[in-house]
Amino acid sequence: CLLYSSVTPDVRERTLIAVKPDGVQRRLVGEIIKRFERRGFKLVGMKMLQASEAVLGKHYHDLQRKPFYPALIRYMASGPVVAMVWEGHNVVRSSRLMVGETDSSQAKPGTVRGDLSVHISRNIIHASDSVEVAKKEIGLWFHSAELINWETSDHSDLYQV
Ligand code: UDP
Ligand code: MG
Repeated sequence: CLLYSSVTPDVRERTLIAVKPDGVQRRLVGEIIKRFERRGFKLVGMKMLQASEAVLGKHYHDLQRKPFYPALIRYMASGPVVAMVWEGHNVVRSSRLMVGETDSSQAKPGTVRGDLSVHISRNIIHASDSVEVAKKEIGLWFHSAELINWETSDHSDLYQV
């Protein structure tokens, strides 16, 4: 049936999630990982790094003409970031819903931003906004050898197989 065809799981979809420097400073890395783990997504890559201006310039390429761009790059380079790749059915869309609105003051309670942050300029987390963008961002932040293909033992509890 057409209505339900979108429910067919694409369990290999991946997204880039990054805990931004303010999230790391505020010791929210564990809290954020916990939410994605409990939801049922699979962690396939993770590293802590000081983001370079070069990577940040590419990552936020589309925003380079925005007035907040210089401050955004300074913020993202102000300390370490924890970059992660999470995998699972519809993980790009689901993550965006879990993360909440860009403007933390508009983000709904229950979302990462809505529960843990108050202002758009310090919104603690990044999540890719489409499957295509996710592919580009994962390629920018990770080498393919840093991504692990593995199976969770509870796969059939999460997905009809
Ligand atoms: N940002 C900002 N001021 C704005 C809009 C965005 O500081 O008025 C920052 C904020 O950190 C945001 C990032 O720029 O997360 C990227 O903006 P985007 O619109 O892609 O939001 P996101 O995809 O992170 O929700
Ligand atoms: Mg974005």
